[in-house]
Amino acid sequence: MCIFCKIVNKEIPSKVILEDENFLAFHDINPTRKVHALVIPKAHYNSFEDTPSTIMGNMSDFIREVTKELNVNESGYRMITNIGKDGGQEVSHLHFHIIGGESVGRLVRDKNDL
Ligand code: 5GP
Ligand code: ZN
Repeated sequence: MCIFCKIVNKEIPSKVILEDENFLAFHDINPTRKVHALVIPKAHYNSFEDTPSTIMGNMSDFIREVTKELNVNESGYRMITNIGKDGGQEVSHLHFHIIGGESVGRLVRDKNDL
């Protein structure tokens, strides 16, 4: 079972921000910005490439609830999902990073954003 599935099952503790039947949002263990949350579906999909569009649609609504909860919905934020080897994905369970709470800066070629 993958590490995020273990977080869903509460086998590994996490700082939960919001949870419903299908999705979970929790704070990244190694934050890169003042706000750094991860949003995942409770069902395991390896990445965005494998995720059905119905799940993605419902996840969009959930993510907007999370950004309200984090109080970044008006100040703004960056949302990132890394995909596969070249995308720098380390955990193979679909997740969106929500970073903000301060200016996250511009995407710069040849610099890692996360
Ligand atoms: P990726 O590189 O796959 O897009 O990002 C994986 C993210 O998961 C990283 O930002 C990393 O800090 C976070 N992470 C890895 N293991 C854990 C964990 O056990 N708990 C939490 N809260 N975050 C984790
Ligand atoms: Zn998983």
